[in-house]
Amino acid sequence: MAIDGPSGTGKSSVSRQVAHRIGAGYLDTGAMYRVATLHVLRGAVDIADPVAVAAAVRGLPVSVGSDALVEEILLSGEDVSAEIRGDAVTAAVSAVSAVPDVRTALVEVQRILGSARERMVVEGRDIGTVVLPGADVKVFLTATAEARAQRRNSQNMAAGGADDYDAVLESVRRRDHLDSTRAVSPLRPAEDARVVDTSDMGFDEVVQLLTGLARE
Ligand code: C5P
Repeated sequence: MAIDGPSGTGKSSVSRQVAHRIGAGYLDTGAMYRVATLHVLRGAVDIADPVAVAAAVRGLPVSVGSDALVEEILLSGEDVSAEIRGDAVTAAVSAVSAVPDVRTALVEVQRILGSARERMVVEGRDIGTVVLPGADVKVFLTATAEARAQRRNSQNMAAGGADDYDAVLESVRRRDHLDSTRAVSPLRPAEDARVVDTSDMGFDEVVQLLTGLARE
């Protein structure tokens, strides 16, 4: 099952829960782009230099678990699951993921990890269009930029952060723009994807709908 869509649609939590309910493995491809970005930042590579970025990502020592309820993301054996969600990585990840050679390298690994178990839920931006175009079920989760910023801001506040809706909305729009206008694999639904607008849907409602689609 391929689940794509922009950030802030509840995609990750929904995908994990759906994978858990249908007894499937789970792969978060966004986490892989984030690990690549962390590796680039740690190597003091100029993120505006695509040749240097691609060279840094080649042979990336990343390991990603396939358990839906246990996040395991290792870079050279070190658990980086918290660090890859930080501001530095979030600000740079769109630039790194826009480099064609970075995508080619990571898509190759995603195809292998995406078939780690008989049933898999693979989540990202280009799973239904590029990584696994033959996926049995394809879903594209979407929501208005405002609804997504609202959710992200609430999550930040719940984690002890400041209430900064305007800055979050600005960042959501910036990433949407970068992800949907890049030359390689721009963010768009696959032609055979079921588009689900989650702006006015609760978490359980979305999970139930997708679990039903997976079982059809
Ligand atoms: O899903 P998440 O927000 O963690 O993804 C981080 C970034 O990785 C996205 O903003 C996008 O730039 C990139 N990405 C991608 N292709 C994917 C998954 C994520 O380009 N399949």
